[in-house]
Amino acid sequence: MARYFLPKGMRYSSLGERDTFYRLEFDFDQIKKWFKSSGRMGKVIFAAVIGRHTRIFPPKYKDDISTTILFDEYKNFNEISDFLLDFLPESLYYDRNLYEDGEIVGMEIAFDLDPENLICPLHGSLNEKMKRGQGLGFCETALNMVKNSAIKLYDELSKTFSHLGLVYSGRGFHIHIFDNDSFSWSYEKRKDLADTVLGKGFPIDEWVTSGGARLIRLPFSLHGMVSRIVYPLRIDELADFNPIEDPRSKPSFLKD
Ligand SMILES: [Zn+2]
Repeated sequence: MARYFLPKGMRYSSLGERDTFYRLEFDFDQIKKWFKSSGRMGKVIFAAVIGRHTRIFPPKYKDDISTTILFDEYKNFNEISDFLLDFLPESLYYDRNLYEDGEIVGMEIAFDLDPENLICPLHGSLNEKMKRGQGLGFCETALNMVKNSAIKLYDELSKTFSHLGLVYSGRGFHIHIFDNDSFSWSYEKRKDLADTVLGKGFPIDEWVTSGGARLIRLPFSLHGMVSRIVYPLRIDELADFNPIEDPRSKPSFLKD
């Protein structure tokens, strides 16, 4: 099985490691706090992908390794925990749409900064990497470039928005906008913002910011392709943040 190249120290998590993480380390209280600070109301829809990129999956789910499995009917977080320990997903997300009585009434705007959206001086563009079967492969240099872009984009967005969230996503960084009036922006307005930011050269995924893609990686979940915990940061922590070494984003199965 061909594997994506990753920065030294990052690797795929095994099923046993996913199990350990979701059994012992995953903490819904932190997630609840994070959603509370975002100011978003109402129920959150979660989504899991079992093994789309790593091809590591519980055998009984071999036909669903790339399926996006939605958790929207849960009664409490214990139920989600049971799902997670059954599916042992490679990735866990939440739906940025806001709903009222089942209708979409808005969306939380987010920016997804990833290595595939920039040209790595060592490994080339996404197209060049894809030709080598390494579309999602990335190196430490590219990850550092993404970090520096995230610092600049946060600064840029701070001129317009007053309530931003910053998250280390495992392969890059996310910036969330939590300003109340931004939740009701139209698709066109979000698309304009995405185009403006892209036009300034930031390595963002336009599809995420416009809302064509509604899922975003869940803070405090495990990114099973790199074995890192998706971790919210303050902007003043970002310059010194080392995504490969920082103990906050290292799951306990990688510590000793
Ligand atoms: Zn590279």
